[in-house]
Amino acid sequence: MLATPVLAQNQENALSYSELLRRIDAGEVERVVIDPAQDVARVRLENREETVEVPLFDRHPELFQKIAQQNRSAETIELDVQPSRDPSAAFGIAANILLIVLLIGGLMAIVRRSSQAGNQAMSFGKSRARFQMDAKTGVMFDDVAGIEEAKEELEEVVSFLKKPERFTAVGAKIPKGVLLVGPPGTGKTLLAKAIAGEAGVPFFSISGSEFVEMFVGVGASRVRDLFRKAKENAPAIVFIDEIDAVGRQRGAGIGGGNDEREQTLNQLLTEMDGFEGNSGVIIIAATNRPDVLDRALLRPGRFDRQTIVDLPSYNGRLGILDVHARNKKLSAEVSLEAIARRTPGFSGADLANLLNEAAILTGRRRKDAIGPLEVDDAIDRITVGLQLTPLLDSKKKRLIAYHEVGHALLMTLLKNSDPLNKVTIIPRSGGVGGFAQQSFNEETIDSGLYTRGWLMDRLTITLGGRAAEQEVFGEAEVTIGASNDLRVVADLAREMVTRYGMSELGPFALETQNNEVFLGRDLMPKSEYSEEISTLVDRQVRAIAVHCYEQARQILREHRVLLDRLVDILLDEETIEGDRFREIVAEYTELPEKQLIANNP
Ligand code: ADP
Ligand code: MG
Ligand code: ZN
Repeated sequence: MLATPVLAQNQENALSYSELLRRIDAGEVERVVIDPAQDVARVRLENREETVEVPLFDRHPELFQKIAQQNRSAETIELDVQPSRDPSAAFGIAANILLIVLLIGGLMAIVRRSSQAGNQAMSFGKSRARFQMDAKTGVMFDDVAGIEEAKEELEEVVSFLKKPERFTAVGAKIPKGVLLVGPPGTGKTLLAKAIAGEAGVPFFSISGSEFVEMFVGVGASRVRDLFRKAKENAPAIVFIDEIDAVGRQRGAGIGGGNDEREQTLNQLLTEMDGFEGNSGVIIIAATNRPDVLDRALLRPGRFDRQTIVDLPSYNGRLGILDVHARNKKLSAEVSLEAIARRTPGFSGADLANLLNEAAILTGRRRKDAIGPLEVDDAIDRITVGLQLTPLLDSKKKRLIAYHEVGHALLMTLLKNSDPLNKVTIIPRSGGVGGFAQQSFNEETIDSGLYTRGWLMDRLTITLGGRAAEQEVFGEAEVTIGASNDLRVVADLAREMVTRYGMSELGPFALETQNNEVFLGRDLMPKSEYSEEISTLVDRQVRAIAVHCYEQARQILREHRVLLDRLVDILLDEETIEGDRFREIVAEYTELPEKQLIANNP
């Protein structure tokens, strides 16, 4: 585009191009915004409020060079491109922006190459690149439940922020960084906000994942801005979510490192080292992948404190439900204890979502308080999927009914099994034709101490669907509907052999937990045993699965009349609740209540 320098109307506000270059060298320029539509640069000088317009000519490489030079040595000059609206020049603007972006891109590459040792990146615009600041989070420790240990550990941080003198007076060094480690939705962000809320300090936050797809240098500049602002507002909390996105081991990962990430990480480390222990800024970072973090981050003086934020146990779930039930109308029949019992493995976010779904259903059904039915439906919706319209009577429906009753009957008859909650053949989104659901014993699930008997019954139950299909419809009619069940069986049986020492191979762990497959330090999972052992393992896995399958078939064969009866009822009613199911089973079996079928090879 041809240059037609626009003269600034106000002479006082004007600056010539060469004067601008001189001022950059002198370190008097704070910000340069290039307007390619009008070919001017709007410049903010040190200690001046108003911006000054400088006419540009169609090529102005010296400007970028000077700014880059200056940024390399000391000062940071913000550089940005912002076209003013001028419809007549629409095409020209686009072309010019492209040109400038390309130019800057090229320049950045040169700058980086020439200063590789320094790790200094050019500050490039903070206009779009933004962190968030909350002057008051409004979250208190009371709003966080179920993660008591983490809360206790972090109460200390609140006193560091509120009364730093108490610690510095006796020569204690206040920690700079706390790393919260735990699965998604467990309340890490909430906890960080609660610390800020309790201490009454501002909360600055940024997410690691936002850094990943930015121009080189932008991430580092953002980190710098973030820390500058936090220090200005100290005492303050800086929260870095998903720190693993920037804090991955440098040089790891497939396809080489990511320059942008490494620069951001380096800047973060520089900032953390750069301020004194009692600057009043405490950094809290969150991750669910501490294993991939660069070790430099975990060194003393950085994130030297780690707090585990785990999935809540039964009591924790109850506490979280209490918090989220505060602003909801629950009918008297709803028992939070019962919900907590039925939701092992749910995170705090899942539980919050569950109560919210139940409230939405209640509203849709025009009821005035959330009832047990809404809670139940919300749980199924979250765990299984949306309810679809029932199938019309068909052979397919019968087959699904036999499959699900196969699971359900084994849940009821086997000795070590947790009781059936309900069985249904109302289909769900995601290709679920029906399901049989257990109420798990919270102690077993929370402690993770599964016994061999429990695991064997689990395998038998899981195979019960296919076993029923085969018993009733014959070999040729079995369906692929059980593929998911078979996958579960294969994985669980293998774990029993290789990790829990529950086979004839004896009590040996043959595999260490393989949790790092990709993007981490070890790129290839290592096979830890020989081919001979591997064959033995396969044979054991097979033996376990075959045993459980035979067991399932035999039990179903022996209870065929009962099986048929249950299927008839299910086809008719579409859902059978656990208690009702057990009553029907009791009519047909002489098994005294507590003496159910033992399942041991
Ligand atoms: P994370 O950061 O660990 O992924 P969040 O803090 O973002 O989890 O949690 C999302 C939401 O879930 C929170 O805003 C809150 O409503 C709810 N929540 C999660 N954990 C808890 C908890 N321990 N106590 C109360 N509410 C929680
Ligand atoms: Mg979060
Ligand atoms: Zn199944």
